[in-house]
Amino acid sequence: MSLKEKIIKELEKRWFPDLKFLFSEEVLKIIPDLLVELLKKEEDEFEKLLEEKIENITFKKLRETDEKLDYLFALIWHLDSVNKSDITEKIIEDFEPKLVEFWNKQAYSEKLYKMHVYVRDNEELDQEQKRIIDKAIKSFERNWIALEKEKQDQLKKINKDLAKLSNDFSNNIVKDEADYELVITDKESVKDLPKDVLDWARKLAEEKDIDWYIFTADPTGYIALMEYCTDSNIRKKFSEDWNKFASKWKFDNREIILEILRLKDKKAKILWFKNFAELSIDPKMAESPEQVLDLIWWISDKARKKWLSDLEEIKNYYNLDSIEAHDVAFYSRKLKEDKYDLDEKELKKYFEYEKVLEYLFNHVQSFYWIDLKELDIKTYNDEVRIFEVVKDWKLISYYFIDPFYRKEKRSWAWANNLRAKDLDKWFLPVVLNVCNFLKSENGKNLISMRDAETLFHEFWHALHEILSESKYSELSWFHVEWDFVELPSQINENWVNSEESLKKLAVHSETWKNISDELIEKLENLKTFNSGIQTLRQNEFALMDMMLYSDNVPKNVSELDKKILDFVNDNWLFKRDESYKMYCSFGHIFWWGYAAGYYSYMWAELLEADVFERIMQMWMFDSKTWKKFVNTILWQGTRKPANELFRDFMWRDLDNSAFMKRKGL
Ligand SMILES: [Zn+2]
Repeated sequence: MSLKEKIIKELEKRWFPDLKFLFSEEVLKIIPDLLVELLKKEEDEFEKLLEEKIENITFKKLRETDEKLDYLFALIWHLDSVNKSDITEKIIEDFEPKLVEFWNKQAYSEKLYKMHVYVRDNEELDQEQKRIIDKAIKSFERNWIALEKEKQDQLKKINKDLAKLSNDFSNNIVKDEADYELVITDKESVKDLPKDVLDWARKLAEEKDIDWYIFTADPTGYIALMEYCTDSNIRKKFSEDWNKFASKWKFDNREIILEILRLKDKKAKILWFKNFAELSIDPKMAESPEQVLDLIWWISDKARKKWLSDLEEIKNYYNLDSIEAHDVAFYSRKLKEDKYDLDEKELKKYFEYEKVLEYLFNHVQSFYWIDLKELDIKTYNDEVRIFEVVKDWKLISYYFIDPFYRKEKRSWAWANNLRAKDLDKWFLPVVLNVCNFLKSENGKNLISMRDAETLFHEFWHALHEILSESKYSELSWFHVEWDFVELPSQINENWVNSEESLKKLAVHSETWKNISDELIEKLENLKTFNSGIQTLRQNEFALMDMMLYSDNVPKNVSELDKKILDFVNDNWLFKRDESYKMYCSFGHIFWWGYAAGYYSYMWAELLEADVFERIMQMWMFDSKTWKKFVNTILWQGTRKPANELFRDFMWRDLDNSAFMKRKGL
């Protein structure tokens, strides 16, 4: 069998893919050719479909595609996200324009549109099929249908250019971050940092034969240094450096940002929207940019008051006249220790990564009736763990997790799928989580409570996909309204931070004792501590996002810088100077799908707080209430519009008061 045949066979396999093989050097060499070949096949199939007489078109025929192309591209995309190399980057760079061209061909095909309309009007469809067809028709109509050919061509070109720009944007960040190092020579200033973080920083220094500490762009190290380093100048430098990625190191994303803004604005205007924000919000749960902005301002007002009182508390306790942005984390952590007697380093000992994961799996077994069974398979990295997901004694999906920080990995954490769930198809879905926890050099992998929440959060995105009941992938997690999609993940963070669950989850990694009532009480006392500044920070990003996608596009880089700096200084609590370039690495809105949608986090938390309050009216472990949640929301995917899903559970519309209460606003 030739190598190519072997790869094809691997892609056709129903089971978990042999990633070690697929990501091997010899395979990567022929992937570019193979992608082109698979694409050609898809294009031919599509042409054939278009030649069909419309009377012969059925729902089934419209969905007939060969999954191998998407699957292979998703695999490469994943590899590039977790083990970035010139090879994967080049494959994507070369192939993606061709792929987008094909997507354009489908998305702007009048014949295909008419076929959908024909099926809607002539075939007897069940509820789910009807929803899929309606959604597709709507998307055709929103995206172009009444436009003349010339405008359509402009849109196609914009789509292609945007795909390239956002890739470049993201690559620049990963590369800049991978190169970044901060050498700390003053050992005294970092002596209070958690031991695992220091060990790691020490190891990086030793690898370079120096006697100090090296900090990189890994988020755990960043947070630890900002909280524990006693030298304010180092904290200042580190936070400024972190706000400069892809602006002042090797790469500069600002021209790319301008071009993205220009193209999105142009696209929106071609489609008769006032600006891109309106286009972005059109298919979402929110009604208009104005509605979103009103809500953000209303919350920000209250959050500002809360922050001022938190700030007073810090200033009074430490006799400070003023406090700078880079000192907030340091003094907040200190206040927690000195006044509230909470030691975060001690708390971390209750969250050993492997144990948290085990608790998570036990939890889903009792509340969601699924089992995760680990498989002994080698992949591209030894830390990756793979599981079979079993429900009612039936294998329904694969899940894998790639948990630890590597510098070739994209930052933070996410969920994704390599193959979507589709019960109509032969294969099993492959769903994944990637995190950036710090791997311990010697001993146990302790993560922070916030990391544990992240793990729960991302796992529920994965579960939302795995458990969508619909037969069709078009109705699963990834297609849910973007300002609703965070609801299930956010609600399950409560399994980490709620008293009753914490008692079971948090077990000390050395003494094996469960967390004490006393420690829980301390955490309870701090529940709304700094909620004002956290809310304001999220809102600042959301407002910046909305502003950029609804105002006139800046003419040049200096106008862009000024616009953002003015905005930040008008709205943020601390003055920033020219060095502030955080937006150059704001991947959510320039690369990932949150353009004019960053507000979604807050929006979904409003929904989530409301739902969770309802759940807690019973009991955190009340399986009946969770069953209702699963039935009405999680299993539904996007079988119904999000508003309806919410109402099915709550029997009413959203009430903001639970969110405000939780945040102490
Ligand atoms: Zn999320």
